[in-house]
Amino acid sequence: TSTIPIKISTKAIAQEFLDKYDTFLFDCDGVLWLGSHLLPSVKETLNLLEESGKKVMFVTNNSTKSRAAYTKKFASFGIKATQEQIFTSGYAAAVYVRDFLQLTPGKDKVWVFGETGISEELKLMGIDSLGGADPRLLESFDPETSPFLKDGLDPAVTCVIAGLDTKISYHKLAMTLKYLQQDGVKFVGTNVDSTFPQKGHILPGAGSMVESIAFAAGKKPVYCGKPNQNMLNSIASVMDLDRSRTCMVGDRLNTDMRFGTEGNLGGTLLVLTGIETEERALQKSDEYPTPKYYAEKLGDVYELTH
Ligand code: PLP
Ligand code: CA
Repeated sequence: TSTIPIKISTKAIAQEFLDKYDTFLFDCDGVLWLGSHLLPSVKETLNLLEESGKKVMFVTNNSTKSRAAYTKKFASFGIKATQEQIFTSGYAAAVYVRDFLQLTPGKDKVWVFGETGISEELKLMGIDSLGGADPRLLESFDPETSPFLKDGLDPAVTCVIAGLDTKISYHKLAMTLKYLQQDGVKFVGTNVDSTFPQKGHILPGAGSMVESIAFAAGKKPVYCGKPNQNMLNSIASVMDLDRSRTCMVGDRLNTDMRFGTEGNLGGTLLVLTGIETEERALQKSDEYPTPKYYAEKLGDVYELTH
């Protein structure tokens, strides 16, 4: 991680980059698109990879949408992506509670603080959830009248999953805390991102909410999103992953590049269409790894070879 990153700036370097890897893991926002705006030559680059027989996966920390909802977003840009190619931090959290915490479908339940991107993935696994987008949680909280406390807490709840909730309410925070105060209830966070960029604004991210719940509960969550290796382990559990021939492509040093480096992937590519600058890409730091490659944009891989 201490060598100087190579800029994808010539045809020879772009070709060498393509030849080195069989599998490419793509961060989404800041790499493929910015919000609802597709970045240049992304479609052509993805087609080139497909034609060359490469495996492609999409790995996003956004827990608000399910993989099914993400396939629609890809389709709206004219990009082919199956549900099996998409990993969100909400899905990674669901895989974690099923495979690692070994929750029993039909028996154990999960209390969700977050959006439908979490509860829909649990449902596909046959795991029932409570909380989430239940509209009654938008009403003001009173412990004497809350419908969630009237008959006592549901004893089937053995785990809390928390992520970004753009309809955050005190009722949701209070009920999530109530469940975390129960003996043995596990605490899982989708992703720790303090902020995320949207439409030119820096907005509060999942970590800003999950950490406030952790503060109240005095319990630390296990996070599943990038850079946490739970995300990579769940990917490796559903596909043959030769890590030495896999490259992680992202726009953030402290999440995407760390994710790839700590996961012992053969390569990392930082693109400058999102969060980071060339200066930061080239600057050594104790806080994040140096990427193996960097490029002004992902589409350069296609443009330089055609
Ligand atoms: N979380 C939310 C709610 C988002 O909207 C986004 C970007 O759209 C992210 C996280 C970061 O996503 P990614 O990991 O694809 O950059
Ligand atoms: Ca990103």
